[in-house]
Amino acid sequence: MTKLSLVQQAHLAIEQVVTAGDITIDATVGNGHDTLFLATRVGPSGKVYGFDIQQQALDSAYRRLDDAGESAQVSLYHAGHEMMAMLLPPSVAGRVRAVMFNLGYLPGGDKQRTTGGSTTLAAVQASLSLLAPGGVLSLLAYTGHPGGREEAELVKAWAASLPHDLFTVSLTVPPSERGGAPEWIMVQRLK
Ligand code: SAM
Repeated sequence: MTKLSLVQQAHLAIEQVVTAGDITIDATVGNGHDTLFLATRVGPSGKVYGFDIQQQALDSAYRRLDDAGESAQVSLYHAGHEMMAMLLPPSVAGRVRAVMFNLGYLPGGDKQRTTGGSTTLAAVQASLSLLAPGGVLSLLAYTGHPGGREEAELVKAWAASLPHDLFTVSLTVPPSERGGAPEWIMVQRLK
């Protein structure tokens, strides 16, 4: 049996809660793989909002979405995800079914331009207030680049501190032999 990567496991988990017409957020657009996944899932009647600080990433993602014919339901912001609560339409608050974070640097881009602990924490905190009951927040945290381990530990400590009556939290860590694989933190809003 083929073992699923954590990226694939995250997609499977999100498929359980996101359906046609839903609102979702890709907090780290990068080359747009997750944005396209979400856009396909929510379909033309749904909405995907995305954030990235690099125009190069947004251009790459738009190309991917256009090629797949899935760009109409997507709005991308050239801005940090820590700004999401300020930039998104107020009407999305409490209605978002999934927020995806894929931390680290843009594959094929500048490895110095990574997500960072303090802005990531601000963004995950903002995400919680946007989630619908039953909605999920998925974070893949890579630990192999400078600052990656510290960022992963910050996010895990934040997730562990969430009130248990409002959120369930799960953590999946790859077997030690799989160097470079991310850790996966999943938070679900219960009510
Ligand atoms: N999910 C992407 C994909 O499917 O291709 C990969 C994301 S990549 C690992 C991380 C991305 O986060 C980079 O493109 C980087 O520019 C972006 N990033 C860094 N800091 C950010 C911030 N404060 N807000 C939003 N995006 C940020």
